[in-house]
Amino acid sequence: MKKRIYIAYTGGTIGMHRSPNGYVLKPGFARLIEDKIPPRLSGEMPDYDLHEYPTPIDSSNIVPADWLRVARDIVDRYQDYDGFVVLHGTDTMAYTASALSFMLQGLDKPVIVTGSQIPLSEVRNDAQDNLVTAIELACDFHIPEVCLYFNGRLLRGNRSLKVKTTGFDAFDSPNFPWLAQIGIHIELNHRVLLPHPPATQFELPDSYATHQVVPLQLFPGISADLIDSITQQSCRGLILRTYGVGNAPDNDPALLDALSRANKRGIIILNLSQCLQGGVHQGSYATGSALANAGVISGGDMTLEAAFTKLHHLFSCGLDEDKIRQKIQSNLCGELSDIET
Ligand code: ASP
Repeated sequence: MKKRIYIAYTGGTIGMHRSPNGYVLKPGFARLIEDKIPPRLSGEMPDYDLHEYPTPIDSSNIVPADWLRVARDIVDRYQDYDGFVVLHGTDTMAYTASALSFMLQGLDKPVIVTGSQIPLSEVRNDAQDNLVTAIELACDFHIPEVCLYFNGRLLRGNRSLKVKTTGFDAFDSPNFPWLAQIGIHIELNHRVLLPHPPATQFELPDSYATHQVVPLQLFPGISADLIDSITQQSCRGLILRTYGVGNAPDNDPALLDALSRANKRGIIILNLSQCLQGGVHQGSYATGSALANAGVISGGDMTLEAAFTKLHHLFSCGLDEDKIRQKIQSNLCGELSDIET
């Protein structure tokens, strides 16, 4: 029996058209697909239904509430389809793929997020392959997780990063193996795919507010005043991008005091490394231990996108502070390897 796939089109370059002002969005994505993938060829494909969102967006305009809309869309149709494809702009695709992974925990079917660097409307494009392959991957029962597909790589959504502005190989997961490599054949890496869950029961929060979660890259000379001014606003989470295995200056007591004060006010301060590979081990150096003493929590080897969306998810679920601190350090859906504080 033919599989049935649901495609949610949210916008992005994949559906854009050339204009004097650069690429712009226009309605009519379904028509564009019909032109590019005529029925003669689509006969070889699974059946799919395309839902074009009423106002497709450039993904630079995305806000957390949009993630919930996509997740609800999938949850509402979960029983009717074998798999799901989300078409999305590349700029914030890794955020959306990460956010969906937290909202769809317990997923037992593939959800494949994809887009392209050149629109489907152009003669030379990467859109057609990304779209067709994503649809095919969405039929594969062995992929019970939210993934990002791009240019022959199937990546875990919450491990993915946009690494190139213009290359077709724009996405990678530098800190986690690819879930599959796609050439002539689809070579799934069964060793790293998530297992099928015992049961699927989604619990989506009622709303997804934009919380002030501030990523802050440490730089030589960073001051306590800067930390104070950021954390005295309505900040709920601070993601510190530290040096190496999670180090920050330990020779500036004012800086550590500022972090400690913020921590005592209930702000979750997470330590992520500026490095692309490996994770945070706050106990390796005195400079990392000083952060732990100030109440900073190790984010292990999570990506910034995963940490940012995970905090949003935990805040939106209305958990108390202790629970959030515990969950942020737990692996919920493959975003985090064993953590060493
Ligand atoms: N600005 C576009 C977007 O993220 C870029 C893309 O889709 O490649 O929507």
